[in-house]
Amino acid sequence: MTDPRLLLRALPPVDRVLEEKPLPAMLTEYPRTLVVEAVQQVLESYRSRLLEENGGLTARDLAPSALAPLVARRLTRWFAPSLQPVINATGVILHTNLGRSPLPAAALGAIARAASGYCNLEYSLDHGERGSRQEHLEGLLCRLTGAEAALVVNNNAAAVFLALHVLAAGRGAIVSRSQLVEIGGSFRLPEVLKRSGAHLVEVGTTNRVYINDYEAAIDEQTAVLLKVHPSNYRIVGFTAEVDAAELAGLAHERGLFFLEDLGSGALLDLTRYNLEPEPTVPEAVAAGADLVTFSGDKLLGGPQSGIIVGRRQLVEKLRCHQLARVLRVDKLILAALEATLQIYLDEERVCREIPIWRMISAGSSQLRQRAERLAHRLEGVPGLRAVEVIPGRSRLGGGALPLQELPTYLVAISPQRGAAATLERRLRQNRPPVIGRIQQGKLLLDLRTILPGEEGLLLGALRFAAGGGE
Ligand SMILES: *Cc1c(COP(=O)(O)O)cnc(C)c1O
Repeated sequence: MTDPRLLLRALPPVDRVLEEKPLPAMLTEYPRTLVVEAVQQVLESYRSRLLEENGGLTARDLAPSALAPLVARRLTRWFAPSLQPVINATGVILHTNLGRSPLPAAALGAIARAASGYCNLEYSLDHGERGSRQEHLEGLLCRLTGAEAALVVNNNAAAVFLALHVLAAGRGAIVSRSQLVEIGGSFRLPEVLKRSGAHLVEVGTTNRVYINDYEAAIDEQTAVLLKVHPSNYRIVGFTAEVDAAELAGLAHERGLFFLEDLGSGALLDLTRYNLEPEPTVPEAVAAGADLVTFSGDKLLGGPQSGIIVGRRQLVEKLRCHQLARVLRVDKLILAALEATLQIYLDEERVCREIPIWRMISAGSSQLRQRAERLAHRLEGVPGLRAVEVIPGRSRLGGGALPLQELPTYLVAISPQRGAAATLERRLRQNRPPVIGRIQQGKLLLDLRTILPGEEGLLLGALRFAAGGGE
């Protein structure tokens, strides 16, 4: 074995590496300082490997011609997007880790129009003076929800936080113990609520809460009765909840505010789409909530945002608060949200144009057809042992309808050699990456969350993954 210290001396100087292919070409494409930095980093990593343990390196590894490709790869990576499109074959429609809702085409167009030049974000074209960014969507939101006023912030966590801070900081907010939820990504609602400055007063037990519990907890400190939608779990069996109208009645009788955090916030009657019923935003408003908060990128199918609708006087109060400035939403989001909401003006368009609603409403015979077509196209792909179409279940995800079963058909794939986990990992390494799941030694792909037009890319990805080649 070569003495590592001798090898250290064999490390070439930066200039020597720069002469090797493909670096001269890269020097015309990238600034010289960056290329030099990449060379220095590669040399440095080899130097530490040699100092530590030699790392199995030989003189050949240190040749300038062997180092140059490593430099090129490093440099390319600096310019490659870290945030990249992936193909979601998990069947989880509102997959928070995969970015929740893909946007409707109309929203993409709206983003491009708002982003590529100036726009009247905070400028009143009627008066030629400063306007409000919140005015653009308020009419639309009021129309779709029946509320008097509306405000959009960064996400629903921010919406709940702002509402509680403005209405109940330094005072009490009464909430049922059964609704103090953790939503995912370690987002614990009680923690956020406490940070708002409101004192949380928990009532009831894990499974049962009655109107009397709320009533008994009200004192001179109380400002708000709060109802939180149990998004990602259900309490079943011996249970009792107080409905929104009853809570609103009690709150108003005692001069308090009633706030409902709907989480997903459907604008449509879900039962019409064969889904379990969930309170819709218009229902929550009609039940008498003073403020209702919900997400823009869950069942609404739009961009990440938090929407607050409710009584004008309260929404005004929230809007004028300094915190509203901290949580304010960007013009691109407003543009995308407006375009998404406009689709709801014509319910016929919802399932056609909003991707998550297209996925939710996809029939199982249509999914079976797509799965069979994909399975058929996979038949000739080398490296795959078995490809079958099997029934399965898709999920809504995003903390919406956790018990809802969406019957689907899956393409189940077993590789010829090696484990399904290897196939799954290689699919993730494809460009674009494909995210599937493993069950009982098979790789499962759910066509429900695969967008139209992605099947060709998926086929290419499977060829790459099964072939084992680069
Ligand atoms: C998802 C959810 C939130 C948080 O909404 P984001 O838009 O993710 O910030 C808050 N409350 C409930 C009940 C939720 O389901």
